[in-house]
Amino acid sequence: MASKAASCIFCKIIKGDIPCFKLFESDKTLAFLDINPLSRGHALVIPKFHGEKLTDIPDDHLTELLPVAKKLATAVGAQEYNILQNNGRLAHQEVDHVHFHMIPKPNKEEGLGISWPQQKTDMDKLKALFEEIKSKV
Ligand code: 5GP
Ligand code: ZN
Repeated sequence: MASKAASCIFCKIIKGDIPCFKLFESDKTLAFLDINPLSRGHALVIPKFHGEKLTDIPDDHLTELLPVAKKLATAVGAQEYNILQNNGRLAHQEVDHVHFHMIPKPNKEEGLGISWPQQKTDMDKLKALFEEIKSKV
């Protein structure tokens, strides 16, 4: 069976089989312009290590991603921006190779739109959840 990396569109970009507008490259990391941008300068930063979700990527392949996202925000001249990383279809992930979006937010219309369905504060539930998660971190 062919590996998932073999059919992965971002692995093909890393190999140079599919072109991209490359903004940054190192041994472990690649950054390029998003092909369907939400705003001017929308770019992606990816580890060269193939993995579907953040939890699939070894720590030493994650270390450059935020510094590079920072470089992109600065280079684009974005004053306001979102750094976004989706995991799974329900969470709006379409490409199954980990990627961080750097999405400038120049105005209300362009860039990322977010629905933020906040739940009411429930201190007892929060405390129980906190104890559960903290014991596993
Ligand atoms: P996701 O929804 O998985 O977080 O985002 C995937 C992103 O990858 C989308 O913003 C989409 O426009 C971008 N994308 C998908 N295919 C390509 C491609 O072949 N080249 C580039 N540069 N971006 C792509
Ligand atoms: Zn891949």
